[in-house]
Amino acid sequence: MAGRITIDFERCKGCGLCVAVCPKASIGISKKANKSGYLPAETSNNNCTGCAACALICPDAAIIVYRDDKENSKSTKAQESKNSKRISKQ
Ligand code: SF4
Ligand code: SF4
Repeated sequence: MAGRITIDFERCKGCGLCVAVCPKASIGISKKANKSGYLPAETSNNNCTGCAACALICPDAAIIVYRDDKENSKSTKAQESKNSKRISKQ
């Protein structure tokens, strides 16, 4: 299953928990600080499966996970956005 995430850089405190739990090494730590002075997490490759481990462990709810529907795996970018499912612990 294809997945992707978005990270709210300003909410992130750079704790690194999401980096540690990602089974696909899809998250790294940025070298550029956010407004609070933390080095936030950032996506580092396109191997995300949408497992949501990162979002579940994030203490600041800074990550949103999207899972794309299987039948639409060949769809265009706009269609993927329309057909994807948002996964969140909020
Ligand atoms: S959803 Fe899973 S695979 Fe994707 S970035 Fe988060 S932990 Fe990694
Ligand atoms: S777990 Fe949350 S707060 Fe910690 S580095 Fe990842 S996104 Fe930032």
